[in-house]
Amino acid sequence: MTLNQPPTPHLAAEDPDVARLVEAEAQRQQDTIRLIASENYVSAAVLEATGSVFTNKYSEGYAGKRYYEGQQLVDPLEELAIARAKAVFGAEHVNVQPYSGSPANLAIYLAVLKPGETVLGMGLPSGGHLTHGWSVSATGKWFNAVHYGVRKETGRVDLDEVRDLALRERPKLIFCGGTAVPRTIDFAGFAAIAKEVGAVLAADVAHIAGLIAGGAHPSPVGHADIISTTTHKTLRGPRGAMLMSTEEWAKPLDKAVFPGLQGGPHNHTTAAIAVALKEAATPEFSAYAHQIVANASALADALLERGFDLVSGGTDNHLILADLSPKGIGGKPAAKALDRAGIELNYNTVPFDPRKPFDPSGIRIGTAAVTTRGLGTAEMPLIADFIDRAVAAEGDEPALDAIAAEVRALLASFPVPA
Ligand SMILES: *Cc1c(COP(=O)(O)O)cnc(C)c1O
Repeated sequence: MTLNQPPTPHLAAEDPDVARLVEAEAQRQQDTIRLIASENYVSAAVLEATGSVFTNKYSEGYAGKRYYEGQQLVDPLEELAIARAKAVFGAEHVNVQPYSGSPANLAIYLAVLKPGETVLGMGLPSGGHLTHGWSVSATGKWFNAVHYGVRKETGRVDLDEVRDLALRERPKLIFCGGTAVPRTIDFAGFAAIAKEVGAVLAADVAHIAGLIAGGAHPSPVGHADIISTTTHKTLRGPRGAMLMSTEEWAKPLDKAVFPGLQGGPHNHTTAAIAVALKEAATPEFSAYAHQIVANASALADALLERGFDLVSGGTDNHLILADLSPKGIGGKPAAKALDRAGIELNYNTVPFDPRKPFDPSGIRIGTAAVTTRGLGTAEMPLIADFIDRAVAAEGDEPALDAIAAEVRALLASFPVPA
């Protein structure tokens, strides 16, 4: 069977312990239905770029203004990645150096705020990210963070509430976007509020960047001053991040990333980001992005038919948040049972969750990785059925193992891209 992992003969000879783990992980990724909303399978080309000799090079600074010699090939590489990002997203300015999504967001704080100034972001329990000012994050400790949530009746952001909060708290920075938001983000609505209160609007599109690139979600370009994204979720690139902005924020953001927060960029990651962005510009990628949404919609319908309670009643994007309270089970035992049954996802708080964050009421489901494998709307009821049966069979290990065998049989027809 083909695995999404090139052969590693040198690794196997030099370090069989690590080689064994790599091979077993490739097999595990083949054998499970991966519904973790932030994960995907990158192409073999992206993997090769990530494993390239650009990992050997230091290049603090930006193209044409580096602090080390030997940049003859790094400069064109970084400029290529930037040009491709501009073409895919239509942004005026792009920085591809942030190490990951969290450092990218920190750079926004450094560019826009002074310590103690006010940021308005979505609360973590409602679907926001830690770096949107949550208390345990540096962004919550060093800045005055206030939070909006979702309406209890609808499970959706209420822009009237966001506006009231913004008028009362006068934030200098507003974040929209999140990690568990199943509905379309109204960038224009957020932009109007930011403009009214004189705040900078940052759109964190880490989860939906691939949908935006493929035309399956509206773009924040033209609405948000600053856009932050990881490159490894629906965008299907290497682990990394990008910041995009209007020309006005170009210099402050570049300075915040380097020398403000980081040293040398990870050039092997830059290479792989460039490859992922070339892929993201193709008609095949657009079809993939639309298929992710169609699959999530079909999976949501199939779960609703089986008595699942979905936050906001469904989904507009790649993500489904299910409240398991009606099933009489917590998110954590359900996620563990599903993992045993070969279905990988994460337990998650739901808005207004009465349970504790380490054992919340919900599970989060995403369709990017299964879409990359070629599963379509026809397979989504099968997945819903596996989920329903595994949740009901919690604690019954033979039953869960039997489901895992059925999962492997289904996936044999959908090899990972190699
Ligand atoms: C994943 C994510 C991040 C953080 O990305 P890391 O690469 O894990 O640091 C930030 N914001 C949002 C909305 C995310 O979903």
